[in-house]
Amino acid sequence: HLMSLLDSCLFCKIIKGSIPCHKVLETAKVLAFLDINPLTEGHILVIPKAHGERLHMVPEEYLGEMLPAAGRIARKLFGERGIDYNLLQNNGKLAHQEVDHVHFHIIPKRSSDDGLG
Ligand code: 5GP
Ligand code: ZN
Repeated sequence: HLMSLLDSCLFCKIIKGSIPCHKVLETAKVLAFLDINPLTEGHILVIPKAHGERLHMVPEEYLGEMLPAAGRIARKLFGERGIDYNLLQNNGKLAHQEVDHVHFHIIPKRSSDDGLG
């Protein structure tokens, strides 16, 4: 059951490298990569390297590295350049989660972007 879950989860496949991604940052417990369908240019996803469908299902030792990783990425790519951004995280279908492996979105916002995202 566990193996078939890891075989079928899109983001677990990205972690394993069987689906390619454009990596932005990687640590022992966290991977960050570009969103394949960005809401704005530079839209990044930050995921734990352990499968968890919802935030409350992810072991705390993984959760504990996600916010520092998001902060480091945002500082380097957006903060230091004065680019505004949103940090978002959805849990469940009704909350607009489409991929059932926890992820933070980091979505930069420039004056040329519209109100979506
Ligand atoms: P959710 O709606 O679950 O919060 O967001 C899922 C995100 O994953 C979407 O922004 C979508 O574009 C992104 N995504 C879906 N499939 C892939 C993929 O194969 N590669 C990458 N890099 N991003 C993906
Ligand atoms: Zn997974």
